[in-house]
Amino acid sequence: MTGPDTRHTHLAALRQRIEACTECSLCHTRARVVPGAGNATARVFFIGEAPGRKEDESGLPFVGAAGRVLDELLAGVGLTRSEVFITSILKCRPPDNRDPLPEEVAACLPYLAAQVELIRPRLIATLGRHALAIFRTGVTIGEIHGQPFRDNDYTILPLYHPAAAIYNRRLRPVLADDFAKIPDFL
Ligand code: SF4
Repeated sequence: MTGPDTRHTHLAALRQRIEACTECSLCHTRARVVPGAGNATARVFFIGEAPGRKEDESGLPFVGAAGRVLDELLAGVGLTRSEVFITSILKCRPPDNRDPLPEEVAACLPYLAAQVELIRPRLIATLGRHALAIFRTGVTIGEIHGQPFRDNDYTILPLYHPAAAIYNRRLRPVLADDFAKIPDFL
């Protein structure tokens, strides 16, 4: 069993590798790499899509308006950022926040897989359709949000992206209801 200190050390080493990455062309346009942040022994692991402008400036995940929504949703189930781990599929911002390209996802996914394997969370919560597509294709987020499923060793909980609740206020209570399922897994 890997202890918390060892996990923390391995995660820090992985972070350094990610911050130095030039595996796809986004390394030319990013300001900062955004490897992710949180607890090395987190029981819940959130996956977003990619850094936006504020994340690119700060090097931290979910620091803009969507981040505030995420913080409120976490607080609603008694969690703080220090207890969870938050990252995204891509660790560098796509120009103009365009969708990730398949070759960018392919280049970056090994880092996400390594983070998951180091942290070994009890629950992986995907935020939005792109993160869901890593684990399941052929279904929409609207069809399976809030419905957990197994993928190899992990339980996946598909959630809407917090940014969706900014543009569509009716999704906010839906997100809150889906977040309310998280403590069942912890
Ligand atoms: S998006 Fe991922 S693969 Fe591309 S340069 Fe950044 S860290 Fe490397």
